[in-house]
Amino acid sequence: MDYDTYGSNAVELAIHLANVERDGEWAAAFLRAHDEWFTPQTALDLSPAESRRAAATADLVRAVALAGSQAEVLERLNELLALARPHPYATDHDGELHLHYARPDAPALEQLTTTVAMGLSQVVVQHGWQRLGVCSAEGCDDVYVDTSRNASRRYCSNTCASRSTVAAYRARRKA
Ligand SMILES: [Zn+2]
Ligand SMILES: [Zn+2]
Repeated sequence: MDYDTYGSNAVELAIHLANVERDGEWAAAFLRAHDEWFTPQTALDLSPAESRRAAATADLVRAVALAGSQAEVLERLNELLALARPHPYATDHDGELHLHYARPDAPALEQLTTTVAMGLSQVVVQHGWQRLGVCSAEGCDDVYVDTSRNASRRYCSNTCASRSTVAAYRARRKA
């Protein structure tokens, strides 16, 4: 499985949103850090109410990743999709033909929610809900999307994977 077959890597945006630390002006900071996902000229400021809605979207992405059955995934995914206002259009703004999911003149929150919901559901529908998971490293609860060929991923990052390998090695030596 590789990202080219997604048609979009919007799922990465969903994963980043689910994992972002939420304090202070986190929502506006998140939008700015991912500004390539928004149409130029989109105002990347969110009201406190909009920030709470962005947090609700993040919670739903996490809930989808944590779900333990297909029925649970469907319920949570559909809750997330209900927040989306898809208005897809094709573009080649970066030199490659691809789809954007939200109206180009939609407010930032609408672009965010729609892109995240559509990107995530695309992956779940095409590649299976088991592709989403939560990090197995101790003390980390970040979620991830597993793009490995044999769906064998267990950690959110290489950092967590090697941290856990070292911990397991020490535990074995002690034993
Ligand atoms: Zn694009
Ligand atoms: Zn981790």
